Amino acid sequence: MYPLYNFHSHSQHCDGKEQMEDYVKLAISKNFKALGFSSHSPLPFPNEWSLTPESFRQYVSDAHYLIEKYSHEIDLYLGLEIDYIPGHSEDFEGFMKNTPLQYNIGSVHMVRHPESGKLWFIDGPLEGYINGVNDIYQGDYRAAVTAFYQQTVQMIETQKPNIIGHIDKVKMHNKQRWFSTSEGWYMEQVDKALEAAAENNCIVELNTRGLYTGKIDEYFPSTEILHKCLELNISMMVNSDAHHPDQIDQHFTEGHELLKKIGFKSLKTPFFEYEI
Ligand SMILES: [Zn+2]
Ligand SMILES: [Zn+2]
Repeated sequence: MYPLYNFHSHSQHCDGKEQMEDYVKLAISKNFKALGFSSHSPLPFPNEWSLTPESFRQYVSDAHYLIEKYSHEIDLYLGLEIDYIPGHSEDFEGFMKNTPLQYNIGSVHMVRHPESGKLWFIDGPLEGYINGVNDIYQGDYRAAVTAFYQQTVQMIETQKPNIIGHIDKVKMHNKQRWFSTSEGWYMEQVDKALEAAAENNCIVELNTRGLYTGKIDEYFPSTEILHKCLELNISMMVNSDAHHPDQIDQHFTEGHELLKKIGFKSLKTPFFEYEI
């Protein structure tokens, strides 16, 4: 079957549950080939999900300890899910230079309005999502969603992440209520992000989290977008964005089956490629 791996995982150091070692032990018991740690990068303002400068140091030191301790049983990698918020987040290059990180996932969870500087949090409670569109974009979902994809393109072009995290996360709370993801303007924005991903050789992850948490009824990205990824020859991988050890292989087989059905012949992680 497929080599088991997961390069998108969180632990108690950021907003996940349980120790990093619990993820490692479970991954070994399930015969994983590789596991990557990807806590949320520290941000220059208080929040409930990211590492702090102190927990970042502990995270790095725990990762090094585990990489060494389990080197004969599993390939472990130290990565980071880096938030891209223009004017707030540190450059990805800075993180990669200052810390011995082996890979990064670039993600947009907060959309910054270029003029007002206000932040729209797309990954928090539904209320905040709706209030953000009303306060910052005067209820104009099209403008808000367009800003999300523009920031995603900007991230890809300026930061060149190894992996792009949940590329259509902005749909999570929508559930086809305020905008339709099949509308022309929406797919135009998606196309721009995919073209940038293809041009910059970024891996796009198939992120299974929305499905197993029940927040949406499809993957990030949608099947329609996956077809476009194939057309553009974009490298894909499967990640579960685990926030608990039990989630490390959620929908792993199903995700692979879908990619295979769409027509992908091989997948690529930052460290190895394999046929499916
Ligand atoms: Zn994320
Ligand atoms: Zn994540």
